[in-house]
Amino acid sequence: MNTLTPITRISMSLALLALGIFLSGDLFFGVRSDEDQIRMEARLRICEALAIQFSSLIAVDDMSTIRLSLKNLVKRDDDIVSAALRTTDGKIQAEAGNHNAQWQTIAFDKSTLTHTQVPIFRNIVRWGTVEIRFAEAENKAYWQRMFSPSVLLATYIFIAGFIGYIFFMRRTLRHLDPSAVIPDRVKTAMDALTEGVILVDGRQQVVLANSAISDKLGVDSAALLGENLSSLGWSLSETAGTPPTRYPWQAAMADGESHTGMRLRLIRGGVERIFMVNSSPILDDNGKPQGALATFNDVTELESKNEQLTDLVVKLQSSQSEVSRKNEELQVLAERDPLTNCLNRRAFFEKAELEFEACVRSGEQISAIMLDIDHFKIINDTHGHTVGDEVIKTVVSVLRKGLPNGEPVGRYGGEEFCVLLPKTDIALAAMMADRLRKQIAKAVETSVRQLTSPLTASFGVASLACGGKNASNLIDQADVALYASKETGRNKVTRWDEF
Ligand code: GH3
Ligand code: MG
Ligand code: MG
Repeated sequence: MNTLTPITRISMSLALLALGIFLSGDLFFGVRSDEDQIRMEARLRICEALAIQFSSLIAVDDMSTIRLSLKNLVKRDDDIVSAALRTTDGKIQAEAGNHNAQWQTIAFDKSTLTHTQVPIFRNIVRWGTVEIRFAEAENKAYWQRMFSPSVLLATYIFIAGFIGYIFFMRRTLRHLDPSAVIPDRVKTAMDALTEGVILVDGRQQVVLANSAISDKLGVDSAALLGENLSSLGWSLSETAGTPPTRYPWQAAMADGESHTGMRLRLIRGGVERIFMVNSSPILDDNGKPQGALATFNDVTELESKNEQLTDLVVKLQSSQSEVSRKNEELQVLAERDPLTNCLNRRAFFEKAELEFEACVRSGEQISAIMLDIDHFKIINDTHGHTVGDEVIKTVVSVLRKGLPNGEPVGRYGGEEFCVLLPKTDIALAAMMADRLRKQIAKAVETSVRQLTSPLTASFGVASLACGGKNASNLIDQADVALYASKETGRNKVTRWDEF
């Protein structure tokens, strides 16, 4: 049915409608019962003619002619099943076609479509009846019923109606067909374009769709004609499913100006396409928009490549940040001591060199504090390494808190640490060292409860002013001063310059 053109389908529907009207009229006003009436009258007339003929034959008692007439009648007329002449006493005097079996008793002197009877008189006195049994309508051959006048009439109404309507609609639609306003040469020119072109009238109905756009949408260009361009199911490419507040062709008609660069997505026949849509208004002589021309550039491939590229960039960025994160982790591993998170010896020396040179350049002081936990071996031996580790971590946390500007702290050896104090002279450094010494004793006492005797540490301090040529010299001087603290009783701060 879908292969039929709309005109054919509409014509067929109209013809069926006319047929329906005819049949309902027949039902209400009995056109066909009139037909039965005519048939009934014809049958009665046959019966009456027979009665007249038989009256004269009865008068001369010519029963054999009557029988012959009845026989011929039944033989020649397919509609007649049987016929008989019956006297008033009910006896059959002459018959043809086994009348007794065919005849059913009906009301006196009443005839039906299948049972007709007419009285015969002899000298004014009723003598008998002529009876004719006609075939039932159902007994008619199929083809006879097929070509009955009412069926023929109905068929005629349908066929004639269909042909009439199709002719009428073709003529009428030629005036209404929106595509008729576009000359064929314009259509041909549009079809030569690789870009999709759709022309809409003021009601946004498609009056032309070139073959490029109909190919892309997988529909016949004729099928698009008359459709509302905005109702095809477009959505914004960026937010699939959301139609724009205003389509370019609507905007072009509203403003009388061109609108370009809207990316629209359309899914038709299960295929998704993305078009870059531009639209310009079609203006009449007064500059009033009467329609719009929209061009559709298929960017589906481009979009998918773009998406792939964007995906790739995102993946690259994430793997890049993963690499940097790993690098940072590696750097931490390379620079930091895992137990205390202090700079390891190598990293601390590198940093110290840089800071030392910077202070030399700027003419500022720089100092180093070297400290070592006193008798730490005994703690390990008495309480075990875990407690020893706890003590080391407590000492480092004191150093961190006690250094206001996050000055670098390095783990110089097992329980020996070095602090670098840029822009700090030796006096201040010694003061800071002494403060740290007191804080360490206090902190360990409160946080490492297993210890039975107080924990102390010895300090050595040196600064740039002590004559060191580089950071390494400075740290060595502080270390020597520390050694002096150890030598002279521990739990004290020794300045390299004073010692
Ligand atoms: P002094 O007062 O002369 O410094 O005596 P000390 O016992 O502290 O010095 P010594 O150098 O003899 O012992 C240091 C001990 O520190 C030896 C080593 O087993 C221990 N040690 C080094 N690193 C660690 C560590 O990371 N954790 C623990 N628990 N002990 C460590
Ligand atoms: Mg020690
Ligand atoms: Mg030591």
